[in-house]
Amino acid sequence: MQAKENQSLRFLVVKAHPHDFTHCAGTCGIHAAQGDSITVVSMTNGIGTHNERLHDELLKPEADQDPQIINQTGDEYAKIKEQEFRQVCALFGVTDVRILDFPDKPFHKTPESVEALRQIIYDVRPHVLITQRPHLSGRHAMASAAHNDHDETAFAIMEAQGLAGTPDYGSRQRPHTIAATYYPGVYYMPDEIDFYVDISEWKEQRVQAEILFSSQGHTETFAHKRIEIHTGHAGWHAGTEYAEGFVRAAPEVLPRIHVPETALRRASEPRQNHLKRIAGELDKD
Ligand SMILES: [Zn+2]
Repeated sequence: MQAKENQSLRFLVVKAHPHDFTHCAGTCGIHAAQGDSITVVSMTNGIGTHNERLHDELLKPEADQDPQIINQTGDEYAKIKEQEFRQVCALFGVTDVRILDFPDKPFHKTPESVEALRQIIYDVRPHVLITQRPHLSGRHAMASAAHNDHDETAFAIMEAQGLAGTPDYGSRQRPHTIAATYYPGVYYMPDEIDFYVDISEWKEQRVQAEILFSSQGHTETFAHKRIEIHTGHAGWHAGTEYAEGFVRAAPEVLPRIHVPETALRRASEPRQNHLKRIAGELDKD
C-alpha cells in the first residue's frame, strides 16, 4: 500500500445512477482503507434506466410473460436496487450512501436537485469531489445534450458547488469550497486522461460489484469480461494491471514538480517488468 500523502480527506462522489459509482470504486476503496471518508450520492434510484428484466419480459408474447416481473412495482425494484448499491459500496469500505429521490430517465437539473446537493456539500464539507463529466464532446455530443441523466447530474453538482461557496444574504450558513474535482476516465478518450490510479489490488472487488448488480442482468461471465476490458484497458494505458483514469476539472497548482514513485521505479527497472506488471506477474509491493 502506498504511503499516505495528505491529511485525512473527505470525498464526495455524486453520480446519476447507483451503478455509476463503480467507475471510481477502486479509488474510493484505496482512500477508505487509508482512513479518508467517502460519501456516495446517487441522484436517482436508477430504476428507469436499468429495467432490463421488464424490457425483456415485455418482448415476449403475453402468455409467456412472468407475472412476477410484469407486476413488480417501481418501489419494489427500487428496494432491490438500493440493497445491491449498499452491498457494492460496502465492498469498498463505503457506508455513507445516499440515494436521492429524483426520478431518472429523465433526470433534470432543477432548483430542488441543486439545493439538495448544496445541502449535502454543507453537510459533508468535502475536499474532493468525484462526479459525472460536464464536457460534451465527440460525435455523439448533440444526442447526449438532448438528454442524458449523467450530464444533468454534472450540471446540477456544478451549480450546487458554486452556490455552496457563495453565501446568501441573511443566511448564517458557513460557505464551503471544494478543493479538487475529478471526473472518471470512463467518460473520456484515453488521450484525455490526466492520471490513473492503480487499482490492481481492488480488481476482485470491481468484479464482485458488477456481479452484485444482478438486477441489471449482470452475470459472473459478463462481470469478469467488463472489468477485464474496462479497467484492464485503463491499466494497459497506465502500464499496470488494472487502473481507473481521471480527468481534472482544473489544473493543479503544486509546490514543485512531483514525480510519482511508480514512474521513478518504471524508469530504472528491467523492461521485462513492464510487461509482467500489466500481466499481473510481478510481486505486489
Ligand atoms: Zn448511469
